[in-house]
Amino acid sequence: MSYSDLEYEIFSRQFILQNFNDKNIYKLAKANIAVIGLGGIGCPLIQYMVSSGLKNFTFFDKDKIEKSNLGRQILYGLEDVGKYKTITAKEKILRTNPNCKIKVYKEHLTKKNLNLLLNSDIVIDTCDDWKSSKLINEFCVDKSLNYIFSSAINDNIQICLFTNKYNKHVCLNCLFPNKEDAELARCDTVGISSVCAGLAGLITAQKTINTLLNIKNEDNILTLINTTDFSVNNINVKNNVNCQLNNS
Ligand SMILES: [Zn+2]
Repeated sequence: MSYSDLEYEIFSRQFILQNFNDKNIYKLAKANIAVIGLGGIGCPLIQYMVSSGLKNFTFFDKDKIEKSNLGRQILYGLEDVGKYKTITAKEKILRTNPNCKIKVYKEHLTKKNLNLLLNSDIVIDTCDDWKSSKLINEFCVDKSLNYIFSSAINDNIQICLFTNKYNKHVCLNCLFPNKEDAELARCDTVGISSVCAGLAGLITAQKTINTLLNIKNEDNILTLINTTDFSVNNINVKNNVNCQLNNS
């Protein structure tokens, strides 16, 4: 059985929907999702994935909770300051579904431990660290893993899934060929709207479900959203002939 009686009760309203028929919820129950970064995007992302019936996860985040996180990292409270994000996030989402299987790593992803991603059906990167994103992208290209890049800065969201499964190469590096981290803005310097981070998490959760259940093709579509005026652009990302990963 994909789900226990308790889980059927928890998800009963959603499982009425056609997209969550028996065949599809089996896919949800079996999917392994890696999430890198349990911050402003990662918190709502994992909460809503669990609330949607996903239950096998690997979490990566080396950070401990700080007061400045609480404005948008909704799984944490003042009583959690000083604790590891991975441990606290795991405890919080198990309150929604205690049957979740969650592995946590209180460490950065580096070349030495990237193999921990190998059994993932989808790798979701919300880490807001360009150097890490480049590394994860390269690994996912090499191993043909589904990779979702999810980012939010000030009032703007950028999310894209790269399936890395076709002969025609398209990757994060095709989209952003920047070589240096310093070329890109980051939340700690430019700022981030709490609502914007939250919406990015929810949209990333929906893209994940769309992909797992074949509800909508998200492959190589960059979703750009401004959360103040609700403008949405979905752009087909093309191969960049100058991408150094072209022949990977
Ligand atoms: Zn590329």
